[in-house]
Amino acid sequence: MEKIILMKKITHEIFSFGIIFYLLSLLKINLLLNLLISLLSIWIGIFPDIIDFKILKTKDLHRNFLSHSPISPIFILYILVILIFSLILFSEINQIIVFSFILILPWIFHLVLDSFNPSGITILFSKKKFKNVNISYDDSKVNFIICLIGIILIIFGVLNI
Ligand SMILES: [Zn+2]
Repeated sequence: MEKIILMKKITHEIFSFGIIFYLLSLLKINLLLNLLISLLSIWIGIFPDIIDFKILKTKDLHRNFLSHSPISPIFILYILVILIFSLILFSEINQIIVFSFILILPWIFHLVLDSFNPSGITILFSKKKFKNVNISYDDSKVNFIICLIGIILIIFGVLNI
């Protein structure tokens, strides 16, 4: 059981790092800054699960409204904090949008990836679930393919530098 959860966590981590590293490499951002933000994105990419397992400690209710909904108050609060933070840091609207988008994206991808399995993700408080397709979260092939996409994105990112 522990191994399955770990694998899923690794999938989220590799994918978050890959997509953010690649996007930042397209923007020709300084490599050190790219790596720092990409490493931060790993943490953001597993944050919905951290809310579940570490903060709410709801082992039986994985993917509840607070942690795994696109309209969760915690997610909305996070978006607001990021927007305020980027408004303080940057003056140009393009920079504010890109910075916010980059830091919000790993969380969105977490929800998208979690929606690809039978239990889906909570959309509304009424526990309505959004399910894309019936793929088990411990499906090793799916985890492998998503990890591979993440690794390919890292390789393309390195080639862009
Ligand atoms: Zn999750």
